[in-house]
Amino acid sequence: MKRIFSGIKPTGHLTLGNYLGALRRWVEVDQHQADALFSVVDLHALTVEHDPARVRRLSRQAATLMLAAGLDPDLCTVFVQSHVDEHARLSYILECTATDGELRRMIQYKEKSVRARAAGQSVRLSLLTYPALMAADILAYQADEVPVGEDQTQHVELTRDLAVRFNQRYGHTFNVPRATPPPVAARVMDLQDPTSKMGKSHESGAGIVYLLDEADVVRKKIMRAVTDSGHDVEYDPESRPGVANLLEILSACSGRNPKELAGAYESYGALKKDTAEAVLEVLRPIRERHAELAADPGHVDAVLRKGAERARGMARPTVDAAYRAIGL
Ligand code: ADP
Repeated sequence: MKRIFSGIKPTGHLTLGNYLGALRRWVEVDQHQADALFSVVDLHALTVEHDPARVRRLSRQAATLMLAAGLDPDLCTVFVQSHVDEHARLSYILECTATDGELRRMIQYKEKSVRARAAGQSVRLSLLTYPALMAADILAYQADEVPVGEDQTQHVELTRDLAVRFNQRYGHTFNVPRATPPPVAARVMDLQDPTSKMGKSHESGAGIVYLLDEADVVRKKIMRAVTDSGHDVEYDPESRPGVANLLEILSACSGRNPKELAGAYESYGALKKDTAEAVLEVLRPIRERHAELAADPGHVDAVLRKGAERARGMARPTVDAAYRAIGL
């Protein structure tokens, strides 16, 4: 059976982008077709300025939402990254496999380091080495596939390079994984700035639909989405990114093709209204299940404990083998 690994960073509240671009496929496809591991990757939340209590709270909320969205602990392994020491152990070995040039070329590093410096913050070294930790997350489990949005494919490419290099130099140790971006909603864009992705760590939440937003907040955000000065509803991601983003969101929520959908609307207002209702339809059951699970923290704890034990048992032989292979 193929092995799948993917994760979510607890750097903010989970967004519609996280759900449509990642979580939904984990639930609907991956957990049924593979031996799948899904992790709240909390070590990755420490690469930028953070508040310890907030990271802890958001980790828990992310795990609860993953279960609320439909991950079933009987079908897959759900765990928190820092509960399994093997990630940090293997990360160091992969830092010793990567070069600084390779890491400095990563788009996310470039963007985030520029942003941090502009805000007068120093750049943590871990922001640069983050892709080595992500490679460790994936390689420790001998994953075959990594279902991620387009924003993460460059990191998976690096993971492949590191696996191949390590295997060539020290003997075959790691399976070489591949990224599997979702066929639709690979990149849900910010409603206020449709040229940048809807990311949970962004400062302003006005263009971001959070999975736990109240219904009227979701409606307001979508109705106020930036479009353009035209009137015709056309699917043209290049020159009309705002409208294309709404069409893609509606498409992802309704299963209909964005081009076909474009033909069915005469005004932006009607498109926004239907998009908001379609999004709410998708979010409603998740919100309801989240409320039930949040009221039963013992259950979530037990799932995460069992998940970490299983993950540890899977990762340890590979990480031990990597240590031996590299000469330790
Ligand atoms: P974020 O950028 O929200 O912090 P993470 O790095 O935690 O997201 O990524 C979790 C998963 O969600 C990844 O597979 C990522 O590709 C996906 N994802 C995040 N934002 C979006 C988006 N706007 N559109 C599509 N997929 C996304």
